[in-house]
Amino acid sequence: MAIVDAKAMLLKATEEKYAVGAFNCTNLIQMEAVVETAVELKAPLILQASVAPSVFLKPRVIAAIYRTLADSAPIPICLHLDHCNEVEFCKVCADAGYTNIMIDASKQDFSENIRQTKEVVDYCHQLGGVSVEGELGTVSGVEDQVRVSEDEAALCDPEQALDFVDQTGIDIFAPAIGTAHGVYKTKFPKIDFERFEKTAKLINGSKLRVPLVVHGGTGLQPDVVKKLVALGGAKYNVSTDLKHTLIDTTYDYISAHRQEYNPGKVDKTVKEAIKARIAYWIGLLGSAGKA
Ligand SMILES: [Zn+2]
Repeated sequence: MAIVDAKAMLLKATEEKYAVGAFNCTNLIQMEAVVETAVELKAPLILQASVAPSVFLKPRVIAAIYRTLADSAPIPICLHLDHCNEVEFCKVCADAGYTNIMIDASKQDFSENIRQTKEVVDYCHQLGGVSVEGELGTVSGVEDQVRVSEDEAALCDPEQALDFVDQTGIDIFAPAIGTAHGVYKTKFPKIDFERFEKTAKLINGSKLRVPLVVHGGTGLQPDVVKKLVALGGAKYNVSTDLKHTLIDTTYDYISAHRQEYNPGKVDKTVKEAIKARIAYWIGLLGSAGKA
């Protein structure tokens, strides 16, 4: 049952006011940790890989790991390509077995963003079983090779968002609302809740019905996360937290066991640490028991 595309999963989340955790992974240990935790908590799940790990590990290898883990899991799981700004690579990943593709042409002007996004939508929909996420406005910070300074970051205009969703035919929509990739410089970043709420109401109050995504999820305070979910955030992306957990846990373990040469013990320690973070996020997002 486990292999699905994201749209139906996220529409259910929108209706029931919880968010599905979308967790960025760079290796097998992380993917196993994420899936095991979601199974234990009976939570629907989106596994994500951004472009760099997808290129490094190869899309077919990531898709094969995903299929193996998802086949035996009693929960719905998607495999999502995060922030890809190349139309051709979007197609490669869709062909390889990713179930959701994010074409991020948000740095292009409006009409070019529509053109590129629509090309990916047409390709994926023709393939079948592959949904597409598009972005309007730009999320600041660094995600993989996509780097946007705060000055360049432009928030999404709700009316234009409705037009964008309508013209592209995307299944999932990422509006820029002031969240950022990487580590927030302040404990209380300026998030434009009003803009998010207006966008959610315009899009989901229309005939289109397209779930919204929160990018830059790491580092937001619990009350901010809950507010974004209540306002219509149905997919919640977490990447930086898991990168830090992987690197810090590995460093701490090796520093404390400098004479030990047992990779399995490092993997086990990292896996437990990742699982604890996933359980935290699933609890906060309200998706436990929703699978
Ligand atoms: Zn993002």
